[in-house]
Amino acid sequence: MDNIQNFKRTKYCGLFTRADVGAEAAVCGWAGRVRDLGGLIFIDLRDRTGILQLTFDDNTARDIYEKAATVKSEFVLAVKGKVRERSSKNADIPTGDVEIEVTELRIVGVSETPPFEITDDCKTSEQLRLKHRYLDLRRPVLQRNLLIRHRVAMLTRSYFDKQGFIEIETPTLIRSTPEGARDYLVPSRVHTGKFYALPQSPQLYKQLSMVAGFDRYMQIARCYRDEDLRADRQPEFTQIDLEMSFVEREDVLAIVEGYIRLVFREILDIDIGAIPRISYAEALAKYGTDKPDLRYGLEIEEIDGVHQFASPTLTRKQRDAVSQLYKVRSRNEGEFTIIYGNDLTELGRARVEAAKLLNLIPANTFKPLWVLDFPFFDRDPESGEWVAMHHPFTAPLDESLQYLESDKAKVYAKAYDLVLNGIELSSGSIRITEPELQNRMFRLLGLSEEEAKEKFGFLLEAFRYGAPPHGGMGIGLDRLVMQILECESLRDVVAFPKLQNAAEPMTDCPATVDAAQLRELGLAVGE
Ligand code: ASP
Repeated sequence: MDNIQNFKRTKYCGLFTRADVGAEAAVCGWAGRVRDLGGLIFIDLRDRTGILQLTFDDNTARDIYEKAATVKSEFVLAVKGKVRERSSKNADIPTGDVEIEVTELRIVGVSETPPFEITDDCKTSEQLRLKHRYLDLRRPVLQRNLLIRHRVAMLTRSYFDKQGFIEIETPTLIRSTPEGARDYLVPSRVHTGKFYALPQSPQLYKQLSMVAGFDRYMQIARCYRDEDLRADRQPEFTQIDLEMSFVEREDVLAIVEGYIRLVFREILDIDIGAIPRISYAEALAKYGTDKPDLRYGLEIEEIDGVHQFASPTLTRKQRDAVSQLYKVRSRNEGEFTIIYGNDLTELGRARVEAAKLLNLIPANTFKPLWVLDFPFFDRDPESGEWVAMHHPFTAPLDESLQYLESDKAKVYAKAYDLVLNGIELSSGSIRITEPELQNRMFRLLGLSEEEAKEKFGFLLEAFRYGAPPHGGMGIGLDRLVMQILECESLRDVVAFPKLQNAAEPMTDCPATVDAAQLRELGLAVGE
């Protein structure tokens, strides 16, 4: 193998154009397709920007030609040569007009035959691709996705910086705090029998940063939630977390709206315009969900006491498919199919299904929406108990305060969500800052005074020393990038994601640990 000594790359592979013809170039990367035509060898050299053709022919020095004949896919090469115009051009790639006539070839890394081909239309199972994620990531589509993600992160920091936010790192070994999901726990060695939790979000620390007087905080923060995974969830994810002091709801919405608009303008050159607003109640009535997809109509109406929507005619088979999946019924009426039922949520799901079956969802269309005025309380579907729909630190609407004890269903929250194409992108609220009210909310959520003190004493105490009014939001960065790139899965925009079952096949994690490690932690694994 050769070394890289005194080799200075002149340019990335994907950047060569006709204007470079005649120039001396030094490029490096991985050998993609290798074609040996006998007397003529072509190697596609690939780096993160694209592909450049290397050519070895009669003019190539003998020793270089022979070395080129030993190159296989995924060998790592450093190459010098002259740029020349290709005799047969390839209009499919940006560098398709040019090639490198090689005068120096170094093999600086060798490769075994990879377990799958490094191409965008790779058909290999996801399990195998994730086991060799470093190879999967060489595929141009994933290289592009992660570069775009980087650009979004850069834009994020610069936008919030310009708006006066400062980035503060909050701890990731914290006290277990209920925020709706299960915590990941980390045992303490020093305090045997005690545990840290990984943050579900930096919620309490950002609020305490407001008490500390930082005024505007942001962080691109890693968050952890031990939930049953669905297609659009990862156990760890990244959130653009922000908090602002001396603000009302409108101030937070304006900052976030400015941010979302900027991202779409800069990354996709799309003006998404002013973001429309809808109340939670209206969203449920019109779309059967608090995450409405506005890219198509099919709005639900109530006619003579029946909830229904009209879609272009569905075939018998399609109608059966919809009513098998959801508790709805349907009938044809002229050129429409009327889908109806009593359960708004089921109708909402049938609406999405009908849109898919009828191909009504346009590509490259982005319809964000603010959903406002959420109920404060929600019934836990399993236990039936009242829980906070957003989280217990959200302020109730002033006009709801009168119902706190008497009628929980009438209590609304200063909470807001940003929804994009039917996916919840972001959620936030104005917070409680009075210790009395915070205690009252804890009590209503079933926490005794002792429990509240035990778990959140530090927050209640902080509020006694001059808490400014504040509010904020958490914007899902992975989800935002996934939407921008119109990817199917979060795994397409996360460098090293977990599978649906929360495992990571490459490092085979989670994994067992040594008995000695457990002993040190004072832990034993049960059956
Ligand atoms: N902590 C909240 C969340 O993760 C966001 C917020 O209220 O700012 O959903």
